[in-house]
Amino acid sequence: MQVAIAGGGISGLAVAWHLRRLGIDVTLFEAGARVGGKIRSERVSGFLCEWGPAGFSSDDPAIAMVLSGTGLDGRRMAARGARRRGVFAAGRVETVPQSASALLGFRLLSTREKLRAMADLLRPPRPLGDRVSAGETLASFGMRHLGRGGAEKLLYPALPGVYAHDPEKTEAAAAFPWLVELARAQGSILRSAPELLRRADAGLASFPDGMQELPAALAESLGAAVHREAPLRRIVAKPDGFTISVGGADGESAEEARADVVVLAVPAGAAAELAGPVDEIAGRALAAIPYVPVTLAFLDLPAERAGGAPHEAGGEGRDGPDSSGLPAAGSERRLPGEPGTFSGHGYYSPPGAGRLAGAIYASSLFSGRAPEGRQLVTTRFGGACRREDAALPDEELLRRSAEELSEVAGRQVGARLVRAVRHEQALPQYTAGHASRVAAIDAAEARRPGLFVIGNAVRGLGVADCMKQARSTAERVARFVNAER
Ligand SMILES: Cc1cc2nc3c(=O)[nH]c(=O)nc-3n(C[C@H](O)[C@H](O)[C@H](O)COP(=O)(O)OP(=O)(O)OC[C@H]3O[C@@H](n4cnc5c(N)ncnc54)[C@H](O)[C@@H]3O)c2cc1C
Repeated sequence: MQVAIAGGGISGLAVAWHLRRLGIDVTLFEAGARVGGKIRSERVSGFLCEWGPAGFSSDDPAIAMVLSGTGLDGRRMAARGARRRGVFAAGRVETVPQSASALLGFRLLSTREKLRAMADLLRPPRPLGDRVSAGETLASFGMRHLGRGGAEKLLYPALPGVYAHDPEKTEAAAAFPWLVELARAQGSILRSAPELLRRADAGLASFPDGMQELPAALAESLGAAVHREAPLRRIVAKPDGFTISVGGADGESAEEARADVVVLAVPAGAAAELAGPVDEIAGRALAAIPYVPVTLAFLDLPAERAGGAPHEAGGEGRDGPDSSGLPAAGSERRLPGEPGTFSGHGYYSPPGAGRLAGAIYASSLFSGRAPEGRQLVTTRFGGACRREDAALPDEELLRRSAEELSEVAGRQVGARLVRAVRHEQALPQYTAGHASRVAAIDAAEARRPGLFVIGNAVRGLGVADCMKQARSTAERVARFVNAER
């Protein structure tokens, strides 16, 4: 049986790795010269710039299996202070309250907004739960529970990746199934705030040399099965499987091969072009998944402290700032965790607030991200609500970042742009109708046996979602292969 996988991002690599584990030979074709797709870690003048994810949720058996199977287990670094997620409003950043009682001291909501949010506590607990309608948007879900202020300043900042999405257009159950499930089980979102923050964080981790270690380890264990600079150009259905065309600058010079199974783990646009001629319904559904641009600016700032406690490889992260507390020679005399310092996860700016979509305190989350005496903050531009900002020139990215970070810090911070990274098609959007598009894509497996489609465009926006999908898809592919043998 010939199993071909297109796409050397985390989805394609993980599905290939699981298939190998299940005793099935695979060939993986990656269009680019490197594997990892959106995951890419680059060292620039001692700063570790993460082009895509800065970390990933590592609390899942599907992920534990990959980490131990690739030998990455001992290199996993847990994030520090990941649950301290901030929100920007009225010129300052506040940490999202970790419990309903902490809401009383939260300064970014008016008394009226707090009372509205706290009404969520009156919702009956199980077994009545919450009634979420199938296509409900994130905005409607959030406002129903917490009112507009509560949705924007309590709920959205707690959700990973939300900066890139438009809550008014995002299907809540498709983008954040665990949130909707939590609401169904508990009734109140506010009552389950600690659990919500725990699930949003879910063991946020990375590696000493950055996220790139994950795809690199998978590719290494797959060895010669991974073909780089080998784009899948075309799939033609045959009575006994598929003919695939791979490589070449144009369709004519591509090489043809036979495949019994084709797994598409490429972005939705590429998947639509490849799947469309084989299964029109899946092709149309894939073509309808929109993407948004995101630009990241990596900022070099003076450190606020000396060194800091190092991460223990494989150790547990502490949900708080480092406690070394010694200011570095020549650095600002501020201690981590004080208001105006860049410690914790970073912050989210609700649509219309601030000059940025938000920021990640990269060197606070993970050690080894900045040289001694410096710190790295990554600012975000673009996304669905600020699309045009993704095209700002470098000078403007720096100007806006420096202004906003100075406002957040309550003092002038001397920021330098280490580099900017631009993704024109950064993240897929799970807009109205996403669940039905996914159903149409999934049904292609029955209409066109041997064709499988996975990736972050379909069922789960984060690295962990892709890895979970990869495992279940590999199990379905294995069942198909074993039945056909
Ligand atoms: C700026 C940014 C920040 C993010 N932050 C986080 C985060 O903090 N935490 C988190 O969990 N997730 C985050 N994500 C999301 C996460 O990175 C993605 O969900 C995940 O990496 C997607 O993996 P994938 O394999 O599905 O797709 P991709 O990574 O897009 O991989 C697809 C691969 O297919 C290849 N390809 C395309 N066409 C062809 C073809 N015809 N033939 C062969 N190969 C082809 C591409 O070259 C690419 O390598 C972030 C993403 C971005 C962009």
